[in-house]
Amino acid sequence: MKTLIVANWKMNPVNQKEAKNLFEAVKRGIKSVKNTMPAGRQVEVVICPPFVYLNLLKGLTLGAQNVFYKEKGAFTGEVSALQLHDSKVKYVIIGHSEARKYLNETDDVINKKIKECLHEKLKPILCIGETAEEKKIGKKAEVLEKQITEDLKGIVTKEIKNIVIAYEPVWAIGPGDNCSIDETMSSILFIRKVIFKLYNRAISDNIRVIYGGSVDGDNANSYIKNAGANGLLVGGASLHAEEFLKIIRSVK
Ligand code: PEP
Repeated sequence: MKTLIVANWKMNPVNQKEAKNLFEAVKRGIKSVKNTMPAGRQVEVVICPPFVYLNLLKGLTLGAQNVFYKEKGAFTGEVSALQLHDSKVKYVIIGHSEARKYLNETDDVINKKIKECLHEKLKPILCIGETAEEKKIGKKAEVLEKQITEDLKGIVTKEIKNIVIAYEPVWAIGPGDNCSIDETMSSILFIRKVIFKLYNRAISDNIRVIYGGSVDGDNANSYIKNAGANGLLVGGASLHAEEFLKIIRSVK
């Protein structure tokens, strides 16, 4: 399985020139990393820029940061999975805690978005995670199980292999504390346990579960090597080409 490294640029950078510069610097760096990578130890890198930059950036796998669940029509301000597919997008981040918080995205809406993405052959990156308050009152497991169960409702066994789950404890996102390796490992195991309950052993073993939350060049490798993450979702550090490349180099 390739290690998946996803850059979530969020609402950055502020103009096309900076977006192109960042993208090209990452692209150049990846080319040289790939030349030194042993066969079979491949890393898949996905860049998720704001919608407005998608069609400017070419030569690396692209992801979107959101999507709407209808195919087309009178939905002002929204972008469809069909349109993303046409823009050569392969992955879509869905259910990010910032979308849950600022756009009031519910599990029901997230579920519809996942289904629409799968219908258009896009791979959803489903973000789940507990807030600091939920963790404090001992509700982490309950929150994760509810999110997984509701977000994947009605998604059948053969579709699940196209889904990536990103465990992103909300309290670890941004310039905060990253989640410890032990805690990440136990959350990933718990996620696999829920998937086992909903599907089967093979799916629970094979579904890609990645970690996100204050990942940088120094801590990245531990999440892969010691916490059992199949990849990383990287916010802040993905806006600095050198730091992002350091992450890619460290996990290869
Ligand atoms: C994110 O927003 O998905 C994220 C992981 O951000 P950061 O790396 O900045 O914590």
